[in-house]
Amino acid sequence: EWSRVRTRLQNEVGEVEYRTWLRQLSLGGADGDEVTVLLPTRFLRDWVRSHYGDRLSALWQSENNRVRRVDIRVGQGVQPLAPSVAPPHSTAPADITALTDNAGVAIPSAVDGLDDKNEGRGDGIVLDPRYTFDTFVVGKPNEFAFACASRVADQPSSPGFNPLFLYGGVGLGKTHLMHAVAWKLQTSRRAGAPAVSVAYMSAEKFMYKFIAAIRNQSTIEFKDNLRSVDVLMIDDLQFLIGKDNTQEEFFHTFNALVDAGKQIVVSADKSPSDLSGLEDRLRTRLGCGMVADLHATTFELRISILEAKAAKASVSVPPRVLEFLAHKITSNIRELEGALNRLVAHSALFQRPITLETTQEVLHDILRAHDRRVTIEEIQRKVAEHYNIRLTDMASARRARNVARPRQVAMFLAKQLTSRSLPEIGRKFGNRDHTTVMHAVSRVSGLMEGDSAFAEDVELLRRMLES
Ligand code: ADP
Ligand code: MG
Repeated sequence: EWSRVRTRLQNEVGEVEYRTWLRQLSLGGADGDEVTVLLPTRFLRDWVRSHYGDRLSALWQSENNRVRRVDIRVGQGVQPLAPSVAPPHSTAPADITALTDNAGVAIPSAVDGLDDKNEGRGDGIVLDPRYTFDTFVVGKPNEFAFACASRVADQPSSPGFNPLFLYGGVGLGKTHLMHAVAWKLQTSRRAGAPAVSVAYMSAEKFMYKFIAAIRNQSTIEFKDNLRSVDVLMIDDLQFLIGKDNTQEEFFHTFNALVDAGKQIVVSADKSPSDLSGLEDRLRTRLGCGMVADLHATTFELRISILEAKAAKASVSVPPRVLEFLAHKITSNIRELEGALNRLVAHSALFQRPITLETTQEVLHDILRAHDRRVTIEEIQRKVAEHYNIRLTDMASARRARNVARPRQVAMFLAKQLTSRSLPEIGRKFGNRDHTTVMHAVSRVSGLMEGDSAFAEDVELLRRMLES
């Protein structure tokens, strides 16, 4: 159980956050309906308690529904996974706390505010207070999904917007948007109108509740409950693939609600037509309202998000660091956020400003995970992008300085970052001679010595490309 809980937690929060806060979590013991988990310092314990406590309990309960409480304490754990030898509460004295526990360490607010949980409809449905429309940064890749979500939050059950189907890859903001809709619906009660009742849950939770209802012979209650809401929101629907009974149940609920004019909002990692493994009739119905996708992020959006998060945490992060992160971590906003949070926490802990150097140091493991070996083509692409010239100019014969200089920088970086020989590099740059490459290398190093702005530029490029 413990290893499954851990793995699921790891998948949910992402590699970065996991390594930062949860890696040292170990099982302390299990005693009836209470489970104890241990962390080595008070600082970590408090952090994990306030940020992951509820998730931990929920995950545990879904693995083993006898568990009522998960206690997070300071202590050294027995070997993780050692099953029954766990001594009850092998709590080490609380003062094994390292310097991380010094009073007065500000908890950075980039990751703040999970202490007061908001329960919806008494179902243990937890909305994250950070996930609102206000905190959602809008850019090209997500503006359509954002607009659809806002529309549904303002006017549920509008024709054409029911069901609303949001889809996109991991960490692109589906859950954030879903919560934002739920928050807005719950709080913007129109004058005189009755409150809108909203049920939000992951498809996994839906299944879990459904199975529990069958076990407790309370399926009728379960159905009535669900069918009495005004808005039903199901996150990560792809989870229902292969779970035929639950799918069936969801389909009936879905139909009953739509027929009664209630709003449905669903998210998934793929579009309805690509969700093979879902029943055809369900896919058809899911796709007949509004379908909006969250596209992969752009560099601009990643920068805006980082800026917003840094501002929220009231820390100053040099633009170069933000650029660096936005270049390096491109796949997933959660990872990007996790990286920033780790930087912020590190800088608060050690009272050191955030610089490119500390960034590389603190995020060493993450950056390496996002790295592949650099190729000359990649160097050419990044450099061209950076200096805003055409990629084809890397190999062209043009000698205008605004083109020739970036080309020399790219050759210089190719020499530094790859193991290619000078003639090989020359060939990739429009069949230039190896002496041209040699000249470029010495020219760029010369310029870097004399011009610190230029040197910083090249340095930034190097760090962005480096493995
Ligand atoms: P998904 O559900 O698609 O896997 P999430 O909604 O959980 O992704 O988003 C992952 C993290 O990235 C969350 O912390 C979320 O707040 C953040 N995030 C995603 N998109 C945005 C955005 N446009 N603006 C601000 N934060 C975002
Ligand atoms: Mg999600």
